[in-house]
Amino acid sequence: MVNNFLDDMHRPALPYKFKFKFSGCPNDCVNSIQRSDMATIGTWRDSIQTDDVLGKKWFAKHGMDELVNDVISRCPTKALSLKNTKDVSTAEGISSVAINDTQSMQIENHSCVRCMHCINVMTGALAPGKDKGVTVLMGGKSVLKIGTSLGTVIVPFMKLESDEDFDALNQLAQDTIDFFAENALEHERTGEMIDRIGLVNFLEGIGRDIDATMVLQPRANPYVRTDGWDEEVEKANQRKANAA
Ligand code: SF4
Repeated sequence: MVNNFLDDMHRPALPYKFKFKFSGCPNDCVNSIQRSDMATIGTWRDSIQTDDVLGKKWFAKHGMDELVNDVISRCPTKALSLKNTKDVSTAEGISSVAINDTQSMQIENHSCVRCMHCINVMTGALAPGKDKGVTVLMGGKSVLKIGTSLGTVIVPFMKLESDEDFDALNQLAQDTIDFFAENALEHERTGEMIDRIGLVNFLEGIGRDIDATMVLQPRANPYVRTDGWDEEVEKANQRKANAA
């Protein structure tokens, strides 16, 4: 990416600077979501991996207080729960890690938002899933015209393994930089341009379909417009079928 875009990344070729940042996992230690116009963050889409031997070892050292108060109750989406091992669900998307001979911590992976907290605390007993890829966000930046903004999810998940995958990421960057060069105002960062013209217009400009998993912020208003609903569901199902 740097080799391809080094000339473009600096003023005055563009209306203003364009920063790339890359994080290997959702801990995002380089703050790519806050500090870059295009953030590429490693993530996974299957279940969290578990290791019962290390789970029991962790529990023997840390105990029930830490498991409940520092792990389970701090999951932001309540995806974790304490279970008798015999009661752990066998439904798809549910995994578990043993903490002793009779109890386990159950993980509802469909509710997990990949915040990394439980994995950070119980490293080894828990680990990211095996089906790895990246999430791409755009528009993060520190204060300038409209104050600090976090990146918006533009690509919820894409694989990044083959040469074709890397080409696709470079193409996304190229499309974005071309659109930014044409449409941003002088001294305007990508996030401010998106804020000014609207996310829908930006997505149309870079040739990307709207997807329900592109998150700017969780929706707070229960009332939604549903015109075009059936067509969008059809498109979303088609995308899932293509991905499968
Ligand atoms: S990584 Fe997932 S399961 Fe673990 S605390 Fe975060 S949201 Fe919950």
